Amino acid sequence: MNLRVPGPTPLPPEVLAAVGQQMINHRGPEFEAMFGEVSAWLKVFFETENDVYVLTSSGTGGMEAAIVNSLSPGDRVLAVTMGSFGERFAAIAEAYGAAVTRLMVPMGKAADPEQVAAAIRKQGPFAAVLLTQNETSTAVTNDVEALAAAIREAGGDEVVILVDAISGLGAIRLQADAWDIDAVITGSQKAWMAPPGLAMVSFSPRAWRAYERSRMPKFYFDLGDARKYARRNQTPATPNVAALYGLHRSLKEMVAEGPEAIAERHRRIGDYCRQGLLAMGLTLLADPAHYSNTVTAANLPEGSTAAEVLAELRSRYGIICASSKVPGLEIIRIGHMGYVREADLDEVFAALREILAL
Ligand SMILES: *Cc1c(COP(=O)(O)O)cnc(C)c1O
Repeated sequence: MNLRVPGPTPLPPEVLAAVGQQMINHRGPEFEAMFGEVSAWLKVFFETENDVYVLTSSGTGGMEAAIVNSLSPGDRVLAVTMGSFGERFAAIAEAYGAAVTRLMVPMGKAADPEQVAAAIRKQGPFAAVLLTQNETSTAVTNDVEALAAAIREAGGDEVVILVDAISGLGAIRLQADAWDIDAVITGSQKAWMAPPGLAMVSFSPRAWRAYERSRMPKFYFDLGDARKYARRNQTPATPNVAALYGLHRSLKEMVAEGPEAIAERHRRIGDYCRQGLLAMGLTLLADPAHYSNTVTAANLPEGSTAAEVLAELRSRYGIICASSKVPGLEIIRIGHMGYVREADLDEVFAALREILAL
């Protein structure tokens, strides 16, 4: 099977083997040694000196944690949304009582730093701004560095910047400290080549100041507890030990390769995917200036539906791709993050040529 959805992604053989290991005591020394390494190795990719907390939940739990630990009901929040995951971030903030203003970016486009700054000047002040690094639903990557600089400039020193980097980090660089970002969230099943079930969240000193003021309800996702336990390389409740085995094994390889080389490899595979699809005459949803290197969204030709094409890819070729809900368009998405080779994409191209008679 060729699993080409943008998460969960396939596991390399050594990670698969690690995941199958016998359980250990999550209050014992073996666990603490592993958790300590995972926490330290994650900082290499978050490019931060801040702690990175590993939570047992999917990525969405990490988004929820970032919100409830930095905000209070009634706080004004600017949510920059470019698709369904940006909308999810906004909806979480709303569910906990934040007063959310949405800056809606047309699907396929990236957020414009000038426009975000203008929204803050006109409609602010905001306690927090929510961004998506890589909008998986439209295969668009934001310029987070430029956005963060514009937000800081317009929003002042205490505005908290929360970034959903779930489908980007580990493949597309994000420098939490250099870009002054307060919370960065990612998920184990995307670029990290690990099973689903872990969310990783960094939290800055500014975010911790916001935590002291924050009154949104929290218990399982209280990062204050995570911080207390992290000091002895443990978690407040029983963690997903199997997923941690996998993440530990994949991070070991990833740290050896380094964030820059991994980003370059994803630039190449992203480009390979786009060129392959364009060469068969398909068009892409995303603005070429903001193509994602972890996922590509292609428009299907007149007369084809995503549902039919996905069903044929699966039943005739064993290839699993995804669709996307963009009104009026039929789109398929191909994931190319983590454990992926050009040959995996060649199979997709060959199958699509047959199915679409291109
Ligand atoms: C996958 C994804 C999520 C949701 O993650 P889950 O692990 O399914 O909860 C959120 N944001 C983005 C950008 C994603 O790609």
